[in-house]
Amino acid sequence: AHLDRIEAVDTDLHAFLHIDSDGALKRASEIDQLRADGHEVGPLAGVPVAVKDVLCTIGMPSTAGSKILEGWMPPYDATVVARMRSANLVLLGKTNMDEFAMGSSTEYSAYGPTRNPWDRERTPGGSGGGSAAAVGAFEAPFALGSDTGGSIRQPAAFTGTVGVKPTYGGVSRYGAIALASSLDQVGPVSRTVLDAALLHDVIGGHDPHDATSLTDFWPSFAAAAREGAEAPSLKGVRIGVIKELGGDGFQKGVNDRFTEALALAEAAGAEIVEVSAPHFEYGIAAYYLILPAEASSNLAKFDSVRFGLRVTPEGGGTVEQVMSATREAGFGPEVKRRVILGTYALSAGYYDAYYGSAQKVRTLIQRDFAAAFDRVDVLVSPSAPTTAFTFGEKTDDPLSMYLNDITTIPANLAGIPGMSLPMGLAAEDGLPTGLQIMAPAREDVRLYRIGAAFE
Ligand code: GLN
Repeated sequence: AHLDRIEAVDTDLHAFLHIDSDGALKRASEIDQLRADGHEVGPLAGVPVAVKDVLCTIGMPSTAGSKILEGWMPPYDATVVARMRSANLVLLGKTNMDEFAMGSSTEYSAYGPTRNPWDRERTPGGSGGGSAAAVGAFEAPFALGSDTGGSIRQPAAFTGTVGVKPTYGGVSRYGAIALASSLDQVGPVSRTVLDAALLHDVIGGHDPHDATSLTDFWPSFAAAAREGAEAPSLKGVRIGVIKELGGDGFQKGVNDRFTEALALAEAAGAEIVEVSAPHFEYGIAAYYLILPAEASSNLAKFDSVRFGLRVTPEGGGTVEQVMSATREAGFGPEVKRRVILGTYALSAGYYDAYYGSAQKVRTLIQRDFAAAFDRVDVLVSPSAPTTAFTFGEKTDDPLSMYLNDITTIPANLAGIPGMSLPMGLAAEDGLPTGLQIMAPAREDVRLYRIGAAFE
């Protein structure tokens, strides 16, 4: 049914970069057979899933939305992919994304943009617009995304879906093509909080292949989501509203829905507390130094020797000329912008002023969160300042694109978990809005319990 749906709508939506119909049908019948033979197949056996193209998959190309990796077939599965296969999920294919996950609209994909299923003249957000659109358009019941500065949560908000960025280290990054290693987290996109929890239970937990993977014991997120949904009370829950992430500068329909959500929470017994996070205003500035710095280093491996594309100048050329011609042809403008920015920020003489200062701001933001979580159980804000914007609206002005990340970036800088869930449609444009809930690090379970109660 999902392959039929993809066939019917994806020529127009372009949520997928690669569709593995044959592989999916074959795997589905194998799982049927396992079940018929009396094997224990697990709760998600046979359920299809879409995978963001940033994740390595055996047997399917993995391009991270870039020309430089066109047709690249990884020799191994990302840990999250391997875990989904072992849990007998069926991989439908790979979803579109901004090149190397740099962007907030999926317009920076080297393979053309994805359309928002709610309004095809609008973007689905980014960088994981493909995964969110696939779930929003019923092409897949759920999907995997990656979130470095909001790439799971903001597209979820733009498409009326649920997206979760787990605690940093809670889900393995092994086999996720790195953007900024200290910020990247893989997580689920789904239509309900429970679905996200079920998928998180499959992909999460310690992985010895990822040096930053936490060794914590994680409780069942699905159990927490069920608990929240069955007794949807917020009695005694202290909800902090971050003053700096709302109000002026946010779209009216978004603010209105957010105010309504808070009123509902209060009626369900929550205590609403206003909190201030004075350093959040520097979040975007710090992020857009730290991210390019790490990205410029991570992307150095695309050198025409080890992976993907190789362009040789006419008549041959030196190693340096081949590398330079390959990177010139293989990377898009946003990737080049960030590599240049990051290399500059890390260079001798500028390191302390830029990268060093950004790291200090990161610490101050972490302290803002710590102070806020002394007073409240969870923090909330709109997931994005606007609803889905139109194509071309922000591509000429990178800064205006970056500003859309104001609400999501702080959680990545602090390594804490964040969830976006549908908050209703904005009155002025009829488009989905998202409620962001954030919890202290390692308290992902709280997001699922409270998120399901909100839902
Ligand atoms: N929009 C953000 C950026 O462009 C977030 C990217 C992400 O989370 N991968 O960096």
